[in-house]
Amino acid sequence: MARKTLIAGNWKMNGLLADGVDLAKGVAAEVKKMGKTQCEFLVCPPFTLLTAVKKALRGAKVALGAQDVHFNAKGAHTGDISPLMLKDAGCQYVIVGHSERRADHKESDELISKKAAAAYEAGLKAVICIGETLEEREAGKTIDVCTRQILGSVPDNADGSNTVIAYEPVWAIGTGKTPTAEDVEEVHAAVRKVLAKKLGKGNANKMRILYGGSVKPGNAKEFLSLPDVDGALIGGASLKVEDFIAIAKNSGQC
Ligand code: PEP
Repeated sequence: MARKTLIAGNWKMNGLLADGVDLAKGVAAEVKKMGKTQCEFLVCPPFTLLTAVKKALRGAKVALGAQDVHFNAKGAHTGDISPLMLKDAGCQYVIVGHSERRADHKESDELISKKAAAAYEAGLKAVICIGETLEEREAGKTIDVCTRQILGSVPDNADGSNTVIAYEPVWAIGTGKTPTAEDVEEVHAAVRKVLAKKLGKGNANKMRILYGGSVKPGNAKEFLSLPDVDGALIGGASLKVEDFIAIAKNSGQC
């Protein structure tokens, strides 16, 4: 089965109600205009906008995702949101282990794996993020770091239907800097090999691996046409309807 290209937007901590609804309506309208497409679309707004964005996306083939989740179903966890709450708000996806959460909240691979497993339990798909820092890249440790993160943060029951991997070099996020296409393909191919060892070749071949890190309309084709790149996780450029849609259109995959 061919892996369907996923064009995913991570809005991060951006947007008040009016902005979020405008952005979602704009994306919905453009995706509707595109008509039949080979791509799947996903937007991941902040928690506060989930319900309104869900409503604004009505009738468009754009999935809704959150940016984090707690691993417990409910209880005394002030400030946290459970997988069932996300499901209840209309989410199909949740991002876990984004490098900003790994850094800002000291999230470990073990915690990320628990979050992903809890997401599956609630019927959510997990977008599990991995990626090396600049220091790790310069030390030649990129593949080692990504291998360790895959082995530690992908649950044993992950498969192509409940999990998407996002390879995001930390130094490329929000910086305008990107690895070369050859570097990206090398990491994605290595990640797929590790997934095959962990989950079996069949599962690894069905699992989508997105590239993320300064994806823009101008470089979309370069990255999204690589054999082991199955879409993009887009931060900054997902906040502008034109850029988000241009990435999809320019990718040559949609
Ligand atoms: C991200 O944070 O997931 C991301 C890829 O950001 P940007 O596209 O802005 O680099």
